[in-house]
Amino acid sequence: MSTIALIAHDRCKAQMVSFAREHLSALSPHHLIATRTTGGLLRSELGLDVQQLLSGPQGGDIQIGALIAEGRVDAVIFLRDVLTAQPHEPDISALLRICDVHNVPVATNLATARWVLSGLLHQNT
Ligand code: PGA
Repeated sequence: MSTIALIAHDRCKAQMVSFAREHLSALSPHHLIATRTTGGLLRSELGLDVQQLLSGPQGGDIQIGALIAEGRVDAVIFLRDVLTAQPHEPDISALLRICDVHNVPVATNLATARWVLSGLLHQNT
């Protein structure tokens, strides 16, 4: 079982729910963690068992970053709205940076998210 972190900015939340719906059986065996609103949606819309951290603007990205630094996250799917300025931009940059520091796969769009998930599946078989 891997730990997968899921984060979606507001304009990408519907995409995240569709992605998770499409890949429900691939995601559900894993330990899923998410920022609060993203995780709440995945729970209410799909019944996924997701551990909810703080909301992104409240420090959720930093919490996920800390778990990455401790080696407790195997992959990150982070659907970013690059067209809208985010109040917690420094936290977002820090999260991406810590993924690179610790060589943790991070997908920032749906195409990469599919590859990351299929890579995890192959790793675990
Ligand atoms: P949210 O946080 O899931 O609580 O909306 C995501 C973010 O904006 O980083």
